[in-house]
Amino acid sequence: MITPTLERVVYMAGYASNKSAQRVHDDLWARVLALRTAETNIVLAAVDLIGLNRLHCQAIENAVQAQTGLPIKLLISCSHTHFGPDTIGLWGATQTESGVDPHYMDFLKATIITAAIDAVQNATQPVHCRSAAIEVTGVAKNYRDPQITDEEATCLQFLTPDEQPFATLVIYPCHPEGVHPDSRDISCDYVYALRQHIEATIGGAALFMPGALGGMMSPDLPEPTHAEAAKMGNTIAEASIRALANQPRQPIETVNYHRAEFAIPMQNMLFQMATNLGLLPNLMDTEGNITSETGLIQIGDTWLATVPGELLPRLGLQIKAELKQAGAKIAGVVGLANDELGYILPEDDFIFPEDWLNPGKQYEESMSIGPATAPRLLAALQRLLSANSDDSRHKK
Ligand SMILES: [Zn+2]
Repeated sequence: MITPTLERVVYMAGYASNKSAQRVHDDLWARVLALRTAETNIVLAAVDLIGLNRLHCQAIENAVQAQTGLPIKLLISCSHTHFGPDTIGLWGATQTESGVDPHYMDFLKATIITAAIDAVQNATQPVHCRSAAIEVTGVAKNYRDPQITDEEATCLQFLTPDEQPFATLVIYPCHPEGVHPDSRDISCDYVYALRQHIEATIGGAALFMPGALGGMMSPDLPEPTHAEAAKMGNTIAEASIRALANQPRQPIETVNYHRAEFAIPMQNMLFQMATNLGLLPNLMDTEGNITSETGLIQIGDTWLATVPGELLPRLGLQIKAELKQAGAKIAGVVGLANDELGYILPEDDFIFPEDWLNPGKQYEESMSIGPATAPRLLAALQRLLSANSDDSRHKK
């Protein structure tokens, strides 16, 4: 559990500055699942936060490797809940102060490290898996580009030898921001009910990761309340349970997690200002580039592309098509994976804001590293796919 104590001031991330949490509606979690084969050690960590930059993710992975002595690859994906603490630095008491509490960050990192080590050491159970993809319509909307939507839930379930669900991962491309923006309740938003419903109905643990939720996949609810967010979570959970029940159970023969780094020129004036003010860590190299990563996770014929931020749905659809072309049966995208670079827009959809402080229709651009992010990411992912597609495996 990673709920912050309210004995300290907790600045809430995602909407406005100077919004302090008043109560806990539901707890925040880091849900961790270890997948071990003779060759691979992977830990999937689904974390209820606005996002975590790559420095933190790498520090956590390094600590887990050092303490287990194993070359564990960690995938940390944040749900992007807008009702958790500021872990990025943009939502403090004023616009020029960070809202990040270093005490909370220490607690957070220690909690994820301990959970990951426990999961690795207890990963002794042989498991089967099944996966499914299902359209869940009527709960989300693309507010930037209403005609481009991705409403597909990607579901992956691990089963014990006696066919009981051990863990169920659901990926859905929508911002956890169904509750009113003024709410000062700590909450996972719709993700809370989504996981509860799965765990109460079929047992085992439920994990949630966001898909291509960027620009601007957001809940489409009758009113911005916890009750409506819960209905949304239940709808996605029910659809996921139904879709998985129809799928055959398969032994897990291959588990791979390949990663590729890429550099992006920092072209965002707001992020540069925030870095100069000390709100964001300075991650730029001497040429003004930020280095991030993408990944390809292959669990049997279910393939997941991991992306370091909030991918716009058009790119999510494109990547899923590319994964299928390369050999995936079920294809998914995991957002905010091992980094949070903000929005990742198609290059041809990127218009530099005239006024960075009042970007209007260019809001997503104002929260993006720059137009080079998507092409660099797609090229890095292509490299991973051509090295690890079915074709290349057969040729070996
Ligand atoms: Zn967002």
